[in-house]
Amino acid sequence: MKKVGIIRCRQTEDLCPGTTDLKIAAEGRLVFAEMGPVELVGFVSCGGCPGKRAVARAKMLVDRGAEAIAFASCMGRGNPIGFPCPHFAAIRDAVARKLGPEIELLDHTH
Ligand code: SF4
Repeated sequence: MKKVGIIRCRQTEDLCPGTTDLKIAAEGRLVFAEMGPVELVGFVSCGGCPGKRAVARAKMLVDRGAEAIAFASCMGRGNPIGFPCPHFAAIRDAVARKLGPEIELLDHTH
């Protein structure tokens, strides 16, 4: 079973407890369809705007065994309030640079 860490938007924590992400990870659906059911090693936020803590937190998830990092759909797609993160591209690029090509990055979850 592949090990995955999820990073979410801190601003949506009051609105969404991540239920769908947890469910699709356990069931291996939507963005996890090709992997099958995955083991979550952590479910953390970006740390708040402008998301600079996401880099260290992504590294922490990898240190805890994550083979892939998924950015929850609240970040790139703005679910559930229709407000995508204005810093998402920069956060994603910074995480990719830090983790290197061995760690798969998923731009959304559902
Ligand atoms: S940086 Fe983006 S993902 Fe993080 S809290 Fe702000 S809007 Fe949300």
